[in-house]
Amino acid sequence: MRVILITGGNGGIGQAIGRGFLQDDPSCQVWLGVRSARVEADLLAAAHPGRGHVLSLDVTQPAAWAEAVRIIIAQCGRLDVLVNNAGGAEDSLLATMPTAQWDRVLAANLDSVFHGCQAVLPAMISARGGRIVNIASLSALLAPAGQANYAAAKAGVLALTQSLSKEVARLGITVNAVCPGYVDTHALDPLTPERRAAALQQIPMRRLGRPEEVAAPVVFLASPGAGYITGAVLKVDGGIL
Ligand code: NDP
Repeated sequence: MRVILITGGNGGIGQAIGRGFLQDDPSCQVWLGVRSARVEADLLAAAHPGRGHVLSLDVTQPAAWAEAVRIIIAQCGRLDVLVNNAGGAEDSLLATMPTAQWDRVLAANLDSVFHGCQAVLPAMISARGGRIVNIASLSALLAPAGQANYAAAKAGVLALTQSLSKEVARLGITVNAVCPGYVDTHALDPLTPERRAAALQQIPMRRLGRPEEVAAPVVFLASPGAGYITGAVLKVDGGIL
């Protein structure tokens, strides 16, 4: 029985990843970490009684991580997979970006991954095995104007992924990153119709990605078939880069 923790469990991609694991592996236990009480994660968990669970997890808070991992280990006795999915952008030009906006985005997208990996590693090291999948972004590789905070944070996630992958490879733990392009979730709500149309022109497939199309490679990276893949950065972007 695999035990899986996914952060950002109310979000579009987090929901799809949770659903992907629950459908792929009938014996797995899926824990959805949520910052705020919303119905999405509760509904998904309720649809899979005994296998889907929701817990409170603000990923910027190390104490929240410690408590979440304590609860999971107490209930399931193990933690096999962590998907660091929570995050989001707050765009603005660097010259006028308030320091608090820089700090919030770095905390939600990069510090969170550091805290999460640190929280789960003791259980994975004891078990001599585990899978960590970090959701970065194509912005880490493209560094678009207006996203200095988000692009720097997500590029940091890629560097953290590759550095940690080397530290824990001999312990049977893999650490990989996925870089989504434009995926149809609430994260794209701030795009004006003009920017959305311009984005579509950038995408060779001429369509947005579906959350399930990010979930499937995440489920694969946590599967036995991906046992020799670590430190990888997988673009899921309809061919943009
Ligand atoms: P959503 O906005 O739908 O979901 C993001 C989730 O992250 C929300 O549920 C949000 O919680 C949660 N979150 C944010 N900050 C915290 C925090 N401090 N603690 C706990 N949870 C938090 O967006 P997506 O599902 O699209 O995004 C998922 C991931 O994919 C993000 O890391 C995003 O950067 C990345 N990504 C998305 C792309 C896209 O086009 N959609 C493209 C590239 C990367 P709450 O519900 O409380 O707000």
